[in-house]
Amino acid sequence: MLQVPLPVEYTRLTDEEVCARIRAAKDRLGSKVVILGHHYQRDEIIEHADYRGDSYKLAQHAREHPEADFIVFCGVHFMAESADILKPGAQKVILPNLAAGCSMADMANIFQVRRCWKQLEETLGSDIRVVPVTYINSAANLKGFVGEHGGTVCTSTNAPAAISWALNEGDRVLFFPDQHLGRNTAWAMGYDPESDMCVWDPFKPLGGNTPEKLKASKFILWKGHCSVHKRFTLEQVERARADHPGIRVVVHPECEIDVVRAADEYGSTEFILNAIEKAEPGTKWAVGTEINLVSRIAKENPDRFVMCLDPQICPCSTMYRIHPTFLCWVMDSLAEGHVVNQVTVPDDVARWARIALERMLQVGQVPAAQHVD
Ligand code: SF4
Repeated sequence: MLQVPLPVEYTRLTDEEVCARIRAAKDRLGSKVVILGHHYQRDEIIEHADYRGDSYKLAQHAREHPEADFIVFCGVHFMAESADILKPGAQKVILPNLAAGCSMADMANIFQVRRCWKQLEETLGSDIRVVPVTYINSAANLKGFVGEHGGTVCTSTNAPAAISWALNEGDRVLFFPDQHLGRNTAWAMGYDPESDMCVWDPFKPLGGNTPEKLKASKFILWKGHCSVHKRFTLEQVERARADHPGIRVVVHPECEIDVVRAADEYGSTEFILNAIEKAEPGTKWAVGTEINLVSRIAKENPDRFVMCLDPQICPCSTMYRIHPTFLCWVMDSLAEGHVVNQVTVPDDVARWARIALERMLQVGQVPAAQHVD
């Protein structure tokens, strides 16, 4: 679905008018609406959120409100799809701007994954069972694929638990679309990034591998990445330590493995948040994740020094498409009885995707937080 242009009146509102109209619509709707805000949203969105969190936490919050008619998801498209699949009742899930996608999620599509699966079957044979695991940052039909093929969804919070589960279920793991989360998680479990893993390039035959390499690899990692977390480098880690002696470096597992290895700690956005909030006053932190979250942590913890590892700062451009004006438009529309920007997943896809997402919730969490030192 394409995003329709906003009515002209919305383009003429001041920031204050937008904020006041969102509040007024929220008051009118009362318990009929729940607003969810991902950590990477700007402050002007987060101030209206009933809950904020990472995709795992928000997926759970979306299930806790069967009384609400509307779940307004201030995040990106795949998150709204997941909320629609997991919703407990007849709620309508609304994404304020339908153009808010995820460049990583777009790096794997169902045709590429089916082709990969067929080639793996032909190359590995029927004696080797491959278990597909998709990061929650993926389209609903990919979640449906893993559900149908005995796999699970994971988040950056529960990736270690999900991969352990997959290794109990089968002999190999096909992990998509983020190679870095897959590699970092498997490395933390003791696997060798060179000998135990290979990368699957969807644009090359056999993913760019020889049959021998595929047979030797415990993990087949899709060639996808996050454009935000790819910006963090080893040089930035070294620079932060040189400029701020005693600083602790904490990064997200979507970063490249040399950055994760060099960090003091790494984990999901929830882990990063908790690590800094629980730290002693006066401690110093260099953080490798999206700038809206880093700035908010710095603002809410003024007695700790918190900086972004990347001096050029790095907002997620797709999350940023949830401008307050779009939130204002959808809230006004809902308050007036018009449902706009509803995200729905077709039943035939949702059926299997729900199985994969339920497995994700059942697999739960083992400590995703990894202390590198
Ligand atoms: S930060 Fe990266 S993975 Fe997350 S929504 Fe943005 S592009 Fe996608």
